[in-house]
Amino acid sequence: MRITNVDVFVAGLSRTPGGGPNCPVVKITTDEPGLVGWGNGALSGGEQAVATLIEQHLAPRLIGADPDRVEDIWQMFQRSTYWRAGRVLAGATAAIDIALWDIKGKRAGLPLYSLLGGKCREKLLSYAHASGSTIEETVASVLANRERGYRAIRAQVATPGYESGSYGAGGARRAGGGRGQGSRPADADEHPARQVRTWEPTPYLRTAPALFERLRAEVGDTVELLHDVHDRLTPIQASQLARELEPYHLFFLEDPIPVENKDGLRVLREHTTTPIAIGERYNSKYDCLPAITGQLIDYVRNGMSKSGGLTELRKIAALAEPFQVKTAFQGPVDIGPLAFAATVHLDLAIPNFGIQEDPHFSGEVQEVFQGLPQWADGYYTASERPGLGVEVDEALLRERPYHPFFFPVIRREDGTLQDP
Ligand code: MG
Repeated sequence: MRITNVDVFVAGLSRTPGGGPNCPVVKITTDEPGLVGWGNGALSGGEQAVATLIEQHLAPRLIGADPDRVEDIWQMFQRSTYWRAGRVLAGATAAIDIALWDIKGKRAGLPLYSLLGGKCREKLLSYAHASGSTIEETVASVLANRERGYRAIRAQVATPGYESGSYGAGGARRAGGGRGQGSRPADADEHPARQVRTWEPTPYLRTAPALFERLRAEVGDTVELLHDVHDRLTPIQASQLARELEPYHLFFLEDPIPVENKDGLRVLREHTTTPIAIGERYNSKYDCLPAITGQLIDYVRNGMSKSGGLTELRKIAALAEPFQVKTAFQGPVDIGPLAFAATVHLDLAIPNFGIQEDPHFSGEVQEVFQGLPQWADGYYTASERPGLGVEVDEALLRERPYHPFFFPVIRREDGTLQDP
């Protein structure tokens, strides 16, 4: 069996310009009639770079290759491209790797979880996102998600004086609005690439514990609660926050400090028993290894489409297992539908699964990618069909519009840059 063709698509996950990221999708065709594999990579804000790398440099190496040799092809892309690693290559490799695993499963007539060793559990605990511009709004959002059936919920609230964001450590205010002038330059306009938002750590550090005090009072122990700091704190600030959150028994505190500061996790560990999750900005097993072997985290959060695909993520899970580090593989909407399906298959088959973030794909996206993992009563299950179990409507996929996506620039009141 040989690979005969590689098609690359960049599909908008939202129809609204600026409304969401895009998904680099790969279709690998073989010389076996009807046998194709699908996969996706990811790099929000750099999706076209991933697609171009695949089209110009990786696809030519695939033509004529045996699609059964998944590990060897992965090694070839990581090592024979000389420069190794990096987020663009990790995203491009992921798309191809997932498609090759899809082919392997279809050829065997087995769902991917079966090829990975079979189920270790029947269903996967998932968590929803709840947010609000006030504590009361976030409480209402948590209650609504609990009503829908979620048993674990990530809660974020805007810092008072700063507008709510759809992600991030409690929202940020558009610079130039509200109190102060922020850091908005005089000639800035509303183009998303040039929008500046403002945020301050001190009021955030006062607000987050107040949110969880209120939430525990409201929901008791009926749901697990999680919180994402988005890399915005110093180790000692994160230590203060994690200690103050201890009475509210978080499932985990996510990305408390910049991911590059691996020694900073040691400071955090010395000060708190709040479980720590990190890894969505890692893109290889090498990135997360010191945090795992140092017992500096409790949950590893690499993303399937951002860390080299199934071949790399299953190794990360295996590396974490003897250290009792569990998985919380990243799963926001930009993970992409095919990578999410692959993640669910892996989650089912590993002993150290912890929890799964819910991307909550829109109905429109689910029409393009049919047979995505099913959610019910707080848990995900995988398709029982061979491979990923996802049928892609290629005509609908081609209609998905690409819109450039930009993360906001976030600065402090004095103009200092903050992580988004
Ligand atoms: Mg996060």
